[in-house]
Amino acid sequence: MSNLDLFLNLTAPNGRQYTQPTGLFINDEFVKSKSGQTIASIDPATTREIASVYAAGAEDVDNAVKAAKAALNDPSWKLLPATDRGILMGRLADLIEKNKELLATIDAWDNGKPYHVALSEDLVEAITTFRYYSGWADKTFGQTISTTPKKFAYTIRQPIGVVGQIIPWNYPLSMAAWKLGPALVCGNTVVIKAAEQTPLSILVLATLIKEAGFPKGVVNIINGYGCEAGAALVQHPLVDKVAFTGSTATGREIMKMAAGSLKNITLETGGKSPLIVFNDTDMEQAVKWSHFGIMSNQGQICTATSRIFVQKDVYETFVEQFTSAVKSTSKIGDQWDESTFQGPQVTRAQYDRVLEYIRLGISEGATVVSGGGPHPPNSNGEAGYYISPTVFTNVTDSMRIYREEIFGPVVVIMPFETEEEAIKRANNTTFGLGAAVFTKDLERAHRVAAEIESGMVWINSSQDCDPGVPFGGVKQSGIGRELGEAGLEAYSQVKAVHVNLGSKL
Ligand code: NAD
Repeated sequence: MSNLDLFLNLTAPNGRQYTQPTGLFINDEFVKSKSGQTIASIDPATTREIASVYAAGAEDVDNAVKAAKAALNDPSWKLLPATDRGILMGRLADLIEKNKELLATIDAWDNGKPYHVALSEDLVEAITTFRYYSGWADKTFGQTISTTPKKFAYTIRQPIGVVGQIIPWNYPLSMAAWKLGPALVCGNTVVIKAAEQTPLSILVLATLIKEAGFPKGVVNIINGYGCEAGAALVQHPLVDKVAFTGSTATGREIMKMAAGSLKNITLETGGKSPLIVFNDTDMEQAVKWSHFGIMSNQGQICTATSRIFVQKDVYETFVEQFTSAVKSTSKIGDQWDESTFQGPQVTRAQYDRVLEYIRLGISEGATVVSGGGPHPPNSNGEAGYYISPTVFTNVTDSMRIYREEIFGPVVVIMPFETEEEAIKRANNTTFGLGAAVFTKDLERAHRVAAEIESGMVWINSSQDCDPGVPFGGVKQSGIGRELGEAGLEAYSQVKAVHVNLGSKL
């Protein structure tokens, strides 16, 4: 139980002062949770508490969903012209841009990612996603379909209704933008639950949503534990659709819970994405992108290219150059140093999990060619959840470090001989999120891209992402697509209207 103030004055380690809301944002107001339950947010670089915020229980979730349901039928939202929905969203994008340094500060502090990365990548992605979808608001149409000379039909694209959205901690604001952007321009109302590891920035986003002028109850934002608030949201009878990003294990639970009332679902889950380097590749580019593809964001990327396959005759060269790139590029430090490439892992639990996988890899008989354990305390001599970027070779396809998602700065590099073998081994996984192929042979590049079982393929690159391009997984990496025009499909449904023009049929 707690009786926290609803607004706290905080000073971040970079000197930035701001007011941090702590409440649940329901029906346009910040409120305390009914039980007084809170979540403490930790700075992973120092392991010190930043602040606590209120955590929703089932009763709070019920209030948030009811607010979203009432807003769905409120004329101020239901009858708002689509162009005006787009204008609201454009205004929100402008407000985020105006406050981008503050929002990047909060995410760096709360998540551990370098501030310069939060500012130049996460915030840019959030802003461009909202801008992209603001343009779609008045461009989603139905069709007219001729049937017989006396009849025709037309279709209307309508919102699905109240959408429950659940996001992870690795990109707190851009994940919120991916979910809110398409849902709102399609006319839905939303209850979004942030991850308990990164509860802070989304509450500041709530203040901007209010400032932009969205009608009350259209966007409700809650923090809360997955098994409690998340589960209550997924099972709520007034929720029409669930959109989830997180682990495959949780995705499976969500699918089961949503089955109770046959809810529409979109799932973006885990991955173990392959990256294939052929012997004709530009080695410098392949090393640069494959390093970025697994070691950026502390390795906490669902599409991380964590299994690297290298054609046998260039394998030794690649391993040598990759390892030296890890040593020279992966500068480890706190979030505030401009030269930091890799910050701490997000939480103690993730830190322990990644170290456990490293120990497992060693005990399975793989060879550590770089890293292999915790990284010493940060420059201030304080404890922090730092891990040395770790490279394994001598890995077999049956090892757990090859098969399971580690979600940290850990990569396995394996040799292959032929294109067929590379494709077969790349596809030898239950996941299918991203994949990369490095070659100068155009025909081979497109042939391999078509053969790999994944939702996205990068040719001579890794991790490219654009709001206009669909994103999602196959196999156990997800159901449905986000971003792009495809992202609108997830948040709208088609109604067919049959029209009889004559009575003499
Ligand atoms: P997680 O599944 O534990 O948590 C994700 C979200 O789900 C959190 O908000 C959490 O509170 C909520 N949640 C947890 N249990 C729940 C339940 N029983 N009912 C309802 N909600 C519940 O995932 P995580 O470990 O925090 O995040 C890392 C995982 O997310 C990785 O596996 C990664 O691959 C995946 N991820 C996928 C994508 C993608 O787009 N495919 C993007 C980012 C992260």
